[in-house]
Amino acid sequence: MNAPIVKVEGLHKRFGDNEVLRGIDLEINEGEVVCLIGPSGSGKSTLLRCVNLLEEPTEGTIEAAGHDMTGPDADLDLARRDIGMVFQQFNLFSHMTILDNLVIPQRRVCKTPKAEAVETARRLLAEVGIEGKEKAKPAQLSGGQQQRVAIARALAVKPRLMLFDEPTSALDPEIVGEVLAVMKGLAAEGMTMLVVTHEMGFAREVADRVLFLDGGVIVEQGPPSEVLANPQTERARSFLHRVL
Ligand code: ADP
Ligand code: MG
Repeated sequence: MNAPIVKVEGLHKRFGDNEVLRGIDLEINEGEVVCLIGPSGSGKSTLLRCVNLLEEPTEGTIEAAGHDMTGPDADLDLARRDIGMVFQQFNLFSHMTILDNLVIPQRRVCKTPKAEAVETARRLLAEVGIEGKEKAKPAQLSGGQQQRVAIARALAVKPRLMLFDEPTSALDPEIVGEVLAVMKGLAAEGMTMLVVTHEMGFAREVADRVLFLDGGVIVEQGPPSEVLANPQTERARSFLHRVL
């Protein structure tokens, strides 16, 4: 139960002269919920995208969901089946129906038989509270509904690890809660989650650990009761002062 499912060592990422990640070491245990907070531009998205190799590290090694992501024999397609990702802008397949958004990835990625893929899709849509929308296109749904579909789609291929990059930042305030409720349920079921968020209430309630990233380094980390309630550094204090 307590084996690390993410292991990042000595991670550096440069875009040209801009060194965005400056030596990140991070282990996440199976079942852990880790919230990543920090100012805009501090490297949160880049760190998340390095975990599933959407960005290639300049230096360092990454293991995730049982895959040696930076090794010479890494099969990233195989690895990404085990690592679900949810984006700020939902990124649903806009030309497909809601049902197909969940069915097609299972068919393509896992070669799941059609009937089974449809059954899984229906079950997951019900679990995230989307009913009677199977034939709709994403644009016909509200932002909160689209994001819940995006979470269900990510879950459809049975990942072992879920990455969330500001999943509620594009939503109207009154519908943020419905997406956070789905994420809370997922955490309660034991999913391992790395979540970039500005929702400090969510972090306080759901995170096992909070990481404060600033200038491409993890400046502070610990349980939310420590990092959020009693930050040790001036950088974390001034950031939290601004967002709380
Ligand atoms: P955060 O998510 O914390 O706001 P990001 O990881 O998105 O921060 O970005 C950190 C820095 O990396 C920013 O200065 C940003 O401009 C730069 N950056 C991110 N992605 C790229 C890219 N693909 N090419 C060049 N620079 C990038
Ligand atoms: Mg970001």
